[in-house]
Amino acid sequence: MSYDVIVIGAGPAGYVAAIRCAQLGLKTACIDAWQDRDGKPVAGGTCLNAGCIPSKALLESSEFYEKIHRSGRHHGIAVNGAVLDVPSLMQRKDDIVRDLTTGIAALFKANGVEWIAGHGQLQPDCQVQVTPHTGEATVIGAAHVILATGSSPVEIDAAPLQDDIIVDSSGALDWQSVPAHVGIIGAGVIGLELGSVWRRLGAEVTLLEAQDVFLAMADQQIVRTGLRLFRQQGLDIHLGALVKSSQVVDASVALDYEDKNGRHALKVDRLIVAVGRRPRTDTIASKEAGLLLAEGGFIHVDADCSTNLPGVWAIGDAVRGPMLAHKGSEEGIAVAERIAGQSAEVNYDAIASVIYTQPEIAWVGKSEEALQGSGTQFNSGLFPFAASGRARAMQESDGMVKVLSDAATDRILGVHIIGAHASELIAEAVIAMEFDGCSEDIARTVFAHPTLSEALHEAALDVDGRAIHIAKIRHS
Ligand code: FAD
Ligand code: NAD
Repeated sequence: MSYDVIVIGAGPAGYVAAIRCAQLGLKTACIDAWQDRDGKPVAGGTCLNAGCIPSKALLESSEFYEKIHRSGRHHGIAVNGAVLDVPSLMQRKDDIVRDLTTGIAALFKANGVEWIAGHGQLQPDCQVQVTPHTGEATVIGAAHVILATGSSPVEIDAAPLQDDIIVDSSGALDWQSVPAHVGIIGAGVIGLELGSVWRRLGAEVTLLEAQDVFLAMADQQIVRTGLRLFRQQGLDIHLGALVKSSQVVDASVALDYEDKNGRHALKVDRLIVAVGRRPRTDTIASKEAGLLLAEGGFIHVDADCSTNLPGVWAIGDAVRGPMLAHKGSEEGIAVAERIAGQSAEVNYDAIASVIYTQPEIAWVGKSEEALQGSGTQFNSGLFPFAASGRARAMQESDGMVKVLSDAATDRILGVHIIGAHASELIAEAVIAMEFDGCSEDIARTVFAHPTLSEALHEAALDVDGRAIHIAKIRHS
């Protein structure tokens, strides 16, 4: 059987690429090896099955539970007797995942994408060997192959996974009761999001982070506020803490870790290992295919996602760049359009990052530290949510918006937000940057009142010292 395009991997990079190829009239097949816990093949990859969607479902439920307890009294509402039912909470999450993964299968059908369940391996000349979950392997071919095999959690010798006691992120999305004490190795995005879930549901949570710097990839002024707030909430975050060993004893975990004060022992009931992800490329191509891998096992690609092999492309977590669903999806669309002879571009400078804690942290573009490091002259505007009427009304006044713009041209170089709904607010900054906007453009835009977005407006005004709702002593 011959196709125009074969996509290997049906995560947000691969399934979006496949649908866009089909929209463009290309005969497309998409191969994926994922099976749900009943052994049923499912599309959607990490994002839908064990990543973005289940984690956000649990973040939402746990936030709802905490709000009943935490925020009610601020509003003059006392709620007694709220009962947590973890199996129902997990069932809700599973139902959302099932609906969405079924939705991808329906989209494939509607667009005429042929979905093939099984393991795909690239062979020479754009041939792909398909090994189904049961049965014989076959070989299919295409003019183009898109590799979108995603990533897997990094494992460490100091904490080998064990049953549901020492788990990776997937395991921590499935616990059916609240552990008394959860330990987490790694205070990165997953550590903070899953730590937040289990803390809100009642667990004591201790995070052991190897680096001395918290969230080194984000703007450090924003991060300092985050660290303070997360610790206030009860996340016990230890920086510069390196786990040396772990041992399961009587259904709990004895940890040995080292920081600048020496060696420490810690006992937890459950341990999550969240120390990063690595590209899933071990079996992606036969040796004869000659696919070039880059450092860290990523598939080597150029700026257009072309590999070293003619007609073979690679996208998503399996290639360089941030491991984010929306980055992979945009690469998928761009590659499909390039295959169809169109010109397409992904603006890697305007890809937002979000950490779905409470408050959320979101940013796009360069941090203050990165601009300083590159010697770029810039201006900065800041606005705290404490001065936002809407944030106060929502009882969500923690955090700030920060706008960084080029000192010479005023072009926006970065926007950094910590606050409620930062994940939604950051889209306004992404659009401004996509249009090569200046802070003055945002400052001259009329924002609805009262909204959280007004904080972006005020931060843009503050770049030029014109924010209205911040009291600054002025000397004439
Ligand atoms: P994947 O989603 O990993 O999909 C790859 C697919 O390829 C899988 O289905 C796999 O079965 C299949 N596959 C692999 N090899 C083969 C093969 N040889 N043959 C056939 N099939 C194969 N990102 C965000 O942007 N926002 C978030 O909120 C977010 N939250 C996350 C939360 C968690 C807990 C985790 C773990 C990740 C989260 N991510 C989030 C990251 C996001 O899930 C990934 O960036 C995204 O899924 C990558 O998409 P992908 O299509 O490249 O790979
Ligand atoms: P991460 O890179 O965000 O964090 C891993 C952390 O573990 C780092 O801070 C690192 O210093 C630390 N670490 C590494 N080795 C360690 C060790 N031996 N001991 C202690 N700490 C150690 O990775 P993650 O949280 O595992 O997430 C993986 C990827 O998934 C990320 O790249 C992220 O982009 C993606 N993701 C995104 C979202 C989102 O967009 N909201 C959510 C979850 C995951």
